[in-house]
Amino acid sequence: MLFLSLGLLAAPALSAPPEMDPALESKLDDYITLFEQPADERAALLAAVIEELDGETPTATRVRARGYYMLDFLSQEDEDAARQESRELVSLAEDDGHPDVIAEALAFRADVMWRLDDNDEAMTQIPLLERILPEVHSPRVRYYAHNLSGRLLRAHSQYEDALSHFLAAYDAVQETDDERTQIRRQFLNYSIAQMQAELRNYDQALRMVRRGIRETQDLDYRIYLPEFFLLKGYIFAQMEDKEASIQAHEEAIDWAEELERPDIIVTSLNNIGSAQIQMENFEDARETLQRALAMAIDLEDEHTRPLLEFNLAYLAIMLGEVDDAIEEMEAAHSRLAEFYSDANMADLLGYMAEAYNEAGLMEETIETLKKQRELKSRVFQAERDQSLSELQTRYETREQATQIELLEERNELQERVIENSRLQQRITILFVIVVIMSLILLWQAYRAARRANLRLTVANKQLEYQSVHDTLTGLLNRRSFQKEMQQRGDGGKERRAQLHPDALLLLDVDFFKRINDQYGHSGGDVVLRELAGRLKAISRSSDMVIRWGGEEILMFLRNMDPAALPDYVARVLEAIGKDPIEVHGAMLTVTATGGFIQLPFAGIPEQEINWEKALNIADMALYLGKTHGRNRAIGILGVNRPFEEIRDALSNDLANAVDQGLVDHTTVKGPPRQSPPS
Ligand code: GH3
Ligand code: MG
Ligand code: MG
Repeated sequence: MLFLSLGLLAAPALSAPPEMDPALESKLDDYITLFEQPADERAALLAAVIEELDGETPTATRVRARGYYMLDFLSQEDEDAARQESRELVSLAEDDGHPDVIAEALAFRADVMWRLDDNDEAMTQIPLLERILPEVHSPRVRYYAHNLSGRLLRAHSQYEDALSHFLAAYDAVQETDDERTQIRRQFLNYSIAQMQAELRNYDQALRMVRRGIRETQDLDYRIYLPEFFLLKGYIFAQMEDKEASIQAHEEAIDWAEELERPDIIVTSLNNIGSAQIQMENFEDARETLQRALAMAIDLEDEHTRPLLEFNLAYLAIMLGEVDDAIEEMEAAHSRLAEFYSDANMADLLGYMAEAYNEAGLMEETIETLKKQRELKSRVFQAERDQSLSELQTRYETREQATQIELLEERNELQERVIENSRLQQRITILFVIVVIMSLILLWQAYRAARRANLRLTVANKQLEYQSVHDTLTGLLNRRSFQKEMQQRGDGGKERRAQLHPDALLLLDVDFFKRINDQYGHSGGDVVLRELAGRLKAISRSSDMVIRWGGEEILMFLRNMDPAALPDYVARVLEAIGKDPIEVHGAMLTVTATGGFIQLPFAGIPEQEINWEKALNIADMALYLGKTHGRNRAIGILGVNRPFEEIRDALSNDLANAVDQGLVDHTTVKGPPRQSPPS
């Protein structure tokens, strides 16, 4: 809102440089320390010091005393004299050459020129000061020069440089330890809070102001209390808390009255009036502003006066009393433009534009808004620099935090990846183990099954073998032959068309009991096994050699040419009896008697004479052979009568049938015995 920023606050000046007059310096210290004393008492004190100055007084003391005097009488004397005095002080200091003296003189010059609204000349002193300040010994001088530079730069929107000067001033304050140290601190706090407010960092500004008020009240030096409350009111106004703003300004006025600071009262009234305008409390606003204007005129306050005139003109325009108001407003604007900071000016132009608009002056409205925009962009650039650096810091902090977070996340992620891959690995390993174990188990199971199967197969084969073979001789057993014959009868096994009939040869070992008796049962077994081997050796693969009973062997000869049958039987008898058999060390000649017959017999169908009947005939023939001297085989070759006639004879009494010539028969003799059986 329309306020007066206290850029014109007097810098309290201070203590002891190199070559000085200790007595006068002490009085000057008193002068600044007794800041709260009535103005005329202090003025008298200073005037007394000035009286004592002469050619013997060291330059440092002279410059300091005349500087204070110059600032004090500035409001009373004419401006040209002040300019002249400041110039003289600088040349005096330069002649002396001491950095402390030169710096103080330059600071006085800047201070005066600024108060005289010669901003360019004031600003010109800053680079000169900046060059010499590092060599300055006195913290008092350094504080004053840096603080002044800071405030000047702030007023010119050079916030960054302003802040660095304020910080240097702070450093200087730390080196002082006198009654004014705390006051200087508060003044710096105030300056920085003011800058924060201008940069629209209201929360921060308000925090500093509140702390300043608290600390100032704790101390005995309350000189900045009016300023702090004024600033507080200004901040609330900017935050659009109008009631709080008015309340703070009223407190500022109270303190200003107590501390005799009419300048603060005028500014506070202006600000209250502005708030009242905003609250559309126009009557009160006009009253407040007119009261302030009267005070400003009385005080010859050439800074606040044009502002008050501006506000009153603005108020008139808002109330529709245009008449002279536009001109008054423009005139006030021109005067304010001489010393206003860009930020203040931008605000002012905003209200001007509003007023022009209200008055229906469109061209002026637009022109003013353009100017305002230009100024704002300059101010905002400075603000942006500030906020940018803040942003940068915040960004960097956040960036760092983010980086840490990212790193942590990445770490966690990596750990999780590692954990995962470990888990994966473990799973894979487990899987592989499971697979391998399964394979092993499977393989073992397979092998076991295979072994079992093999054993089973072997067992089955053995069983199968055993089921058709005789264990002692390895010849086919009786059952296997019966099975074969059964299939033959069933017609289950396809009968090959064969050239000749089959033949049956039944053999019985002669006097076998004697072998058993002489060589034991095992000796008999040896003989049986040997005979089995010999018969197998001379039989064809299609023939069957069967152990028929104890020492009876049946040979089933397939497709046997009847003409060749007696010769074959002869060879069988020869195989049995020609070579002796070794039984328990003894060489034993063994013979056998046999009976043989063809199947089918004599063309008679097997339905009539089946294998059992044929075998029965062969058995009877064998018996005949036994009775006719053994070691021979008798074959029944055919019938000499119709079968019907000889059926019974064939079945029951073959000997008789042979005798009667009912059957055709032949006798095959075995090999001649080398020695008679014993
Ligand atoms: P023959 O010439 O009249 O046939 O006189 P043989 O002594 O052979 O009399 P027979 O045929 O009646 O006797 C058969 C004997 O064979 C009776 C029995 O003890 C014996 N025998 C039967 N089976 C076996 C066997 O497996 N091993 C042995 N060692 N002897 C057996
Ligand atoms: Mg027998
Ligand atoms: Mg026998």
